[in-house]
Amino acid sequence: MPKPDSTSETALETLLKARIAASGPIALADYMATCLLHPAHGYYTTRDPLGRAGDFVTAPEISQMFGELLGLCLAQAWVDQGAPPRFILAELGPGRGTLMADLLRATRAVPGFHAAAGLHLVEASPSLRNAQQVALGGFSVTWADSIDALPDDAPLFLIANEFFDALPIRQFTRHIDGWCETIVGVAQGALAKGYAAPLALPALAHRLDDTKPGDVVETRPEATPILARIGAQITAHGGAALIIDYGNWRSRGDTLQALRNHSFADPFAAAGHADLTAHVDFEALAQAAHPALATGLTDQGALLARLGIGARAERLSRNLTGASLENHLAATQRLTRPEEMGSLFKALALYAAHSPAPPGFD
Ligand code: SAH
Repeated sequence: MPKPDSTSETALETLLKARIAASGPIALADYMATCLLHPAHGYYTTRDPLGRAGDFVTAPEISQMFGELLGLCLAQAWVDQGAPPRFILAELGPGRGTLMADLLRATRAVPGFHAAAGLHLVEASPSLRNAQQVALGGFSVTWADSIDALPDDAPLFLIANEFFDALPIRQFTRHIDGWCETIVGVAQGALAKGYAAPLALPALAHRLDDTKPGDVVETRPEATPILARIGAQITAHGGAALIIDYGNWRSRGDTLQALRNHSFADPFAAAGHADLTAHVDFEALAQAAHPALATGLTDQGALLARLGIGARAERLSRNLTGASLENHLAATQRLTRPEEMGSLFKALALYAAHSPAPPGFD
């Protein structure tokens, strides 16, 4: 993938600087949305960022076991809810389609599951939609730009891995006189972070209890309507959502990060050429879903252990030797060990309060 040297300006930097010169600094959320999804120069719109050749590796790309086990978890939740004869099987931000391909392969033997599923992928990136089409060759798939386009008259079984971390955040620093929003302007010819004047923000009133002046909190405005939609559909028709990402029950501090070539980078340099993400606040996601839903949050490592990654890893290892066996063992550890992805990444389950918890969440 061509990368500009560090001294040259990216096309998006030129555009953003012109925009800021004409109408002033922009909010961080606006900067993040432009960097990730600008139609011509956005990070996701212009490339496949996943895997060894890209900028980061996600759990489904590390091992097939991730999609298999989460797929069986979702299928068991469907069985436990009486195996409804028609349901929406949806994924938000499917990347290369690897998770869904593994999920569908693992659930082939679940009687009726495939026949009942209408497969819907919510994906903004044209290049990743192509990759998903290749990965899911034998299946009938409907793509959507937004969850609002999905049919809302059937149970919803939904999965999203590392989707919410890519949605733009707003960032606020507490001040004696209110909250100062993080903005992006130009300083010494380069894009740079700044702060707007303090404002009283009733929406952050609940954060006055657990912060002091100088502390940073983050919100994710685009996540709220998505969770409201998931919550309303599960409440009305049943289903379950599994949301896996890195983060915590409540966001604290400045968690914006840029990744480029598998290394951390300056989020305000090389606009459009680095992946920008921030920790997911699972409390905010759960609260934005319907209040009648039950929620469960667990560490990724503990969840995969309860779903049987030990036995599955052992089974797969029987056919492997040498470097492939070593890679397989390293991948298993990477997904589960607390010092790797096992505890930084968490899984949130949302389901109707009268339904059993999906396996691994009870
Ligand atoms: N789930 C995949 C990919 C994670 S990367 C995996 O685990 O490998 C984030 C994914 O979300 C990419 O597919 C990206 O194109 C998509 N995406 C990011 N912002 C989006 C948005 N606003 N709407 C739809 N898809 C989005």
